[in-house]
Amino acid sequence: MTIDFRSDTFTRPTPAMLRAMTAANVGDDVYGEDPSVNQLEAMMADYFGKEAAMFCPSGTMSNQVAIKVHTQPGDEVICSNLAHVYIYEGGGIAFNAGAQVRALEGDRGMITASQIAAAINPDDVHKATTRLVCLENTSNRGGGCCYDVEEIAHIREVCLENDLELHLDGARLFNALVATGEDPRTFGELFDSISVCLNKGMGCPMGSVLLGSHPFIRSARRIRKKLGGGLRQAGFMAATGIYAMEHHIARLAEDHRHAKLLANALLQKTFVGHMLPVETNIIIFDIQGEWNARLFTDYLKNEGILVTPISEHQVRMVTHLDVTTEMIERTAAVIAEIE
Ligand SMILES: *Cc1c(COP(=O)(O)O)cnc(C)c1O
Repeated sequence: MTIDFRSDTFTRPTPAMLRAMTAANVGDDVYGEDPSVNQLEAMMADYFGKEAAMFCPSGTMSNQVAIKVHTQPGDEVICSNLAHVYIYEGGGIAFNAGAQVRALEGDRGMITASQIAAAINPDDVHKATTRLVCLENTSNRGGGCCYDVEEIAHIREVCLENDLELHLDGARLFNALVATGEDPRTFGELFDSISVCLNKGMGCPMGSVLLGSHPFIRSARRIRKKLGGGLRQAGFMAATGIYAMEHHIARLAEDHRHAKLLANALLQKTFVGHMLPVETNIIIFDIQGEWNARLFTDYLKNEGILVTPISEHQVRMVTHLDVTTEMIERTAAVIAEIE
């Protein structure tokens, strides 16, 4: 038995999700005629209190489409220096939107309203036009931490005062909602656009949904088509999203509980150094002393446990749908044995 903590993207559809998939009503979504895609989009828009939604093959595509719709070439996008849109999307902001990034050093990938206000360019021909702010919640490189909604409200004010759009990379927004108990509609009100992933904690094989106003989503559909993301019978995938919306949101609390159990097991050990606060399903910690990230990763691999070394001295572990309580107990026992 392999226990896979590398990412919450490694989940496989449950038998019930597979049944929902094969039973899906489908049509050609490029013609807008896939009933399952239309249902998922309506469901998501309603859940977040947004006017419209669009299914995308990946979270990267949702983010990239949103950034392209919000900006013109040469514009500047403000985000954290740890943001997925900046460091993990292949330079997509430059490639797809022709925009440039002003990367701010935040706290665990979270940036503040005052930092953003200070980074907005003046109206000066030497400067790029600041157009868009991108936040990430939960923050992946920040160890799955959750923004304080009050701070987002301040950021929203700065954006309104300065005519900036505000996009949320909510790849793991469901984790944040479950961890904090916040109302999804609060996020719908605060952001011009939101991208949420189905392929992470929700346990779907693929997919993401982009949310926004009617005009925003109309423009987004044109960009998605240009990127080759117009899908035909995507309803088979959308059906997994509908299933996940109904069955896989509340259970994220279990992943968060598992992450805390693992974190506690790790913190007993002297080779475990600084650990980022564990707020959701991600654990990021330093390895110190005679061990390093590679040695630790290889040791666990021999025991059938997979983790990700994210630098020479940092390891990331992620809990998800396919990690059971027994697997957490077995991993904790293996960790306890390490000298
Ligand atoms: C995974 C992820 C995405 C999108 O990833 P895809 O693999 O393209 O679906 C975007 N943002 C964050 C923070 C992520 O973790």
